[in-house]
Amino acid sequence: AMAEAAVGAQAPPDEEGDECLREYRHLLSPDLLAGQVAFITGGGSGIGFRIAEIFMRHGCRTVIASRNLERVSEASKKLVAATGQQCLPLSIDVRQPQTIVAAVDEALKEFRRIDILINGAAGNFLCPASALSFNAFKTVIDIDTIGTFNTSKVLFEKYFRDHGGVIVNITATLSYRGQALQVHAGAAKAAIDAMTRHLAVEWGPNNIRVNSLAPGPITGTEGFRRLGGKFAEKSSLFDMIPLQRAGNKTEIAHSSLYLASPLSSYVTGTTLVVDGGSWLTSANSFSALLGIASSSA
Ligand code: NAP
Repeated sequence: AMAEAAVGAQAPPDEEGDECLREYRHLLSPDLLAGQVAFITGGGSGIGFRIAEIFMRHGCRTVIASRNLERVSEASKKLVAATGQQCLPLSIDVRQPQTIVAAVDEALKEFRRIDILINGAAGNFLCPASALSFNAFKTVIDIDTIGTFNTSKVLFEKYFRDHGGVIVNITATLSYRGQALQVHAGAAKAAIDAMTRHLAVEWGPNNIRVNSLAPGPITGTEGFRRLGGKFAEKSSLFDMIPLQRAGNKTEIAHSSLYLASPLSSYVTGTTLVVDGGSWLTSANSFSALLGIASSSA
């Protein structure tokens, strides 16, 4: 039998779907983000949804933005009901700068300020490079990398240049060891980590902090269901992770809260890896992953 997990490595409770937490115990002051406003791309689902919830539970108002207005509107209702904070759902496609400009204008009209940008919007799937169409590779770069640049630039010009701000880019550990079947997402996220450093340097004098957060396998997400679910069923995947388990959305939200809050006031240009030590030890077998990719297709 495994030794009981140390308190410091125990997962907080979470929900599988895009639902708010049934119970939440504050580890930090509930007014940590009081008076602030966060603009969260991809905030209608998965990790982005939980980031919105945890920020709202710490006094933050939020804007959640993605392509599907119905999805963000539904999410917003749940978030407001669970937290009592304001949440503005807006439709954007991060590949189309004019949609970001319109959304940021609307958010500023509503809240008069934006303090935090979470770049969470992304697309991913498992595919060997040889089977990846030219367009599929380009689409992932367009959404993840260029979308992150577009959104950061619009926020800079519309608000952060003159008022300061905090940017958290949600990336991944895929490129650290060249994860099989992930050349598109790994390349896209590595470019974002580079962007994090470039923008941290250029925008530091404007009182803007820019950091990346790289999650490992996170349960209760579309990414995990698609990329990790079959793998987890088929093998003792978690035995290879130093902390012996997947992470959950609340754990990613807590790390985002650290990076977005004054707790990290002297932290910029870095990547916080939140993966239970996973990338150091996880398998990277092309043929094993290929079997899983075809069985989950
Ligand atoms: P998810 O629920 O699918 O989140 C992706 C979000 O991006 C969706 O809300 C989607 O909403 C939005 N989106 C996609 N294309 C967009 C576009 N062109 N413009 C605007 N919004 C767009 O998946 P998730 O697993 O929670 O992932 C969240 C973030 O964590 C991603 O950056 C992902 O790469 C990263 N991550 C996840 C894991 C994991 O284990 N799940 C691991 C490492 C990294 P619409 O469809 O409404 O646009």
